Amino acid sequence: MSAVLSRENLIRIAQEFGTPLYVYHAEKIKEQYEKLSSAFEGTNTVFFYACKALTNVNILRYIKSLGANVDCSSVNEVKLALHAGFPPQRILYTSNGIAFDEIEEAQNLGVIINIDSLSNLEKFGQKFGHSYPVGIRLRPNIMAGGNLKISTGHDKSKFGVPVDQIHLILDIVKKYNLRISDLHIHTGSEIKDVSVFLKGIEVLFDLVHHFKDLEFIDLGGGFKVPHKQDDVETDIHSLAKKIKQAFAAHPNAAGKTLQVWFEPGKFLVSECGYFITRVNVIKETAGACFVSVDSGFNHLIRPMFYDAYHHIENVSNPHGPEKKYSVVGNICETDTFAWDRMLKEVREGDYLVFYNAGAYGFEMSSNFNSRFKPAEVFVKDGNAQIIRKRDVFEDLLRNQIEVI
Ligand SMILES: *Cc1c(COP(=O)(O)O)cnc(C)c1O
Repeated sequence: MSAVLSRENLIRIAQEFGTPLYVYHAEKIKEQYEKLSSAFEGTNTVFFYACKALTNVNILRYIKSLGANVDCSSVNEVKLALHAGFPPQRILYTSNGIAFDEIEEAQNLGVIINIDSLSNLEKFGQKFGHSYPVGIRLRPNIMAGGNLKISTGHDKSKFGVPVDQIHLILDIVKKYNLRISDLHIHTGSEIKDVSVFLKGIEVLFDLVHHFKDLEFIDLGGGFKVPHKQDDVETDIHSLAKKIKQAFAAHPNAAGKTLQVWFEPGKFLVSECGYFITRVNVIKETAGACFVSVDSGFNHLIRPMFYDAYHHIENVSNPHGPEKKYSVVGNICETDTFAWDRMLKEVREGDYLVFYNAGAYGFEMSSNFNSRFKPAEVFVKDGNAQIIRKRDVFEDLLRNQIEVI
């Protein structure tokens, strides 16, 4: 039985805390983590939560309590993870395209570091040589993921050092006697097909003999979660089985005690999240019936940014007749959440809930149109607690310096 919050629950929470509102359900995060850890039981695998999906410090602490490590994409995320209580050796910092002084800062904080360019690898060598272990993010030149906008491992992607430049990597490693502790790939998001991870591991296995200090193989994140009924999730059990087989079969890997790392973001927190909005206006036109909610791409940008699908439900009228609507925001831009979507008849004042709103929802929100960012609520053991206040007017002026 999957952990879900009922309509009645969501309405009660919306009435108590107001809208727009992000709600996260602890038991669902736990369920997802346990799915991963049980599938990989008995293997030498560690999960690093890719926290850019959702960084509220309560979420970080909760995920830490489940036993996961954490993957960070900026030094500020590293500091949040430390603040949440993760020890440095459980924090992985996978940088991309950043100035070297940020890597120095991460080194100073004692966390695990992945570097994704020859330029920063060279600087790392000059500064730290053999003294501090480091991982390399590679670009395996594999096409993967739900669509091009969320693919990161193909041969035109900015991420990682292309595997065809391995000789340049080896030159730097040799020159500075670098201690390469892990090889990393992250090929995209919403990867349904487990064979993508196997292709990735083969690419890495082919290279492991070059690196005598190697301890970890990092296959990144990108596990797919269902977004609508009958949609599938990455088959984690099949993945675990095939990874085991791949280890046994490859001459470079068999017999080695390499640990396998994954960096799930969405898989852990997408489905735990509900974004609750309220209907401001219904506008009937010849072309469409528009439902305007008290939100927009300032709060949930995924539909506009990468054509993400979010299931939307009118929780206030669950037994009403179905009608076709375009669900839009209240921002001065075309901020359409869904075109031609069948919903139970919508009335002004109804609550519309967006599902799969835990990952990259609040985290990508902004104050565009000088609107407030939503509040966040955490539900655990049936208990709903506010974990971030809604903005107030002063927040819009904070950091502005009035010189005129
Ligand atoms: C974003 C990201 C992830 C997580 O991706 P999901 O699709 O949310 O699982 C993992 N690793 C790296 C390096 C990332 O940038």
